[in-house]
Amino acid sequence: ALTLSKKAQAVKPSSTLSITAKAKELKEKGIDVVGFGAGEPDFNTPDNICEAAIEAIHAGFTKYTPADGTLELKKAVCEKFLKFNGLRYETNQVVVSNGGKHSLTNIFTAIINPGDEVIIPAPYWLSYPEIVKLADGVPVFIRTDKSQNYKVTATQIEAVCTDRTKALILNSPNNPSGMIYTREELEAIAEVAVRKDFYVVSDEMYENLIYGDDHPVSIASLNDEIYKRTITCSGVAKSYSMTGWRIGYTGSSKEIAKLMSSVQSHQTSNPNSIAQKAAYEALMGSQDSVFAMNEEFNKRRDYMFDRISNMRLLSALKPQGAFYMFVDISETLDKEYKGTKINTVSNLAKILIEDFNVAVIPCDDFGFSDHIRLSYAISIEQIKKGLNRIEKLLNELR
Ligand code: PLP
Repeated sequence: ALTLSKKAQAVKPSSTLSITAKAKELKEKGIDVVGFGAGEPDFNTPDNICEAAIEAIHAGFTKYTPADGTLELKKAVCEKFLKFNGLRYETNQVVVSNGGKHSLTNIFTAIINPGDEVIIPAPYWLSYPEIVKLADGVPVFIRTDKSQNYKVTATQIEAVCTDRTKALILNSPNNPSGMIYTREELEAIAEVAVRKDFYVVSDEMYENLIYGDDHPVSIASLNDEIYKRTITCSGVAKSYSMTGWRIGYTGSSKEIAKLMSSVQSHQTSNPNSIAQKAAYEALMGSQDSVFAMNEEFNKRRDYMFDRISNMRLLSALKPQGAFYMFVDISETLDKEYKGTKINTVSNLAKILIEDFNVAVIPCDDFGFSDHIRLSYAISIEQIKKGLNRIEKLLNELR
């Protein structure tokens, strides 16, 4: 019969996309929309990286590569892991993939058997539960709150452990909260992971985008026992403004790397050859562009935080990394706009886009139905204009 895959049909279409589509539709009509939805830096990929790719094309580096990436790039990844994260991985522990999202897909394909549970602390990046379910895993959510800086604690993790617990996903710096786990917090989490014997999938995609003095800690670097159980996942997308190039990578045990590599060899052959040359330059070349981007993001973050902190009905923590602000809008939900109660975060987002031409991300699909995410990967002028509009709505709420 012409029935379709139940698994594919169970995938939730992304709510962020519907707001982004609406914003695009309005923009095409010539309406001046401010979009706080951006999940990527607004800077061009740095010139030195683009040049490396152009050179690769001219040199004919345009054919299949090894499934898990070129040796050259894997060596660069090992060097980066050692210097930046204090992590010793050999090249046979590294798998280069077609982006961070692809790495996560590989990881869960390699470790999950049907029914295995994966702990996902909320707020979470909305793709985690879907990726876990596609690999036949069962997401187990833990709600955190503002008083704990939206960071999950070892005690909370231990409370949801069962004999089906296979892994925990940790994301630091975090999308959407911008929070970074401290060494002490990670040590406590690592202790539970080792004692209860599950994997930690450490998504460190935003590791370069940090604004304080504290360098984020990679949980795998804490001790040998947690190193064995961790799959460290990162990529060039966010740090080097290379979202379209599609290169991610992992460091793990040899056994897991081998499984991921063989799965990948059948599914996508290899990551794009030209993008691998570009990623090599990103990791090994000058890091000046990263510093320049961070400086700009930092200014925007300060400005946005100042404004939001002074707005009625809203509150937020100052992000420590990434380029998102996670804003608590719970106080708006029982207020009325034009005689109708706001009620849900999607209604708030709908009013903002339709009546004020501001696109924000309602965070129900990030596990928080009373928060929105504002990205500061847009110019400070746009941020100012957008925040003025949000403030105007807030002043109209009764
Ligand atoms: N992990 C997190 C937390 C993200 O926010 C993203 C992208 O939005 C990714 C991973 C995936 O990045 P990539 O573009 O390399 O697939």
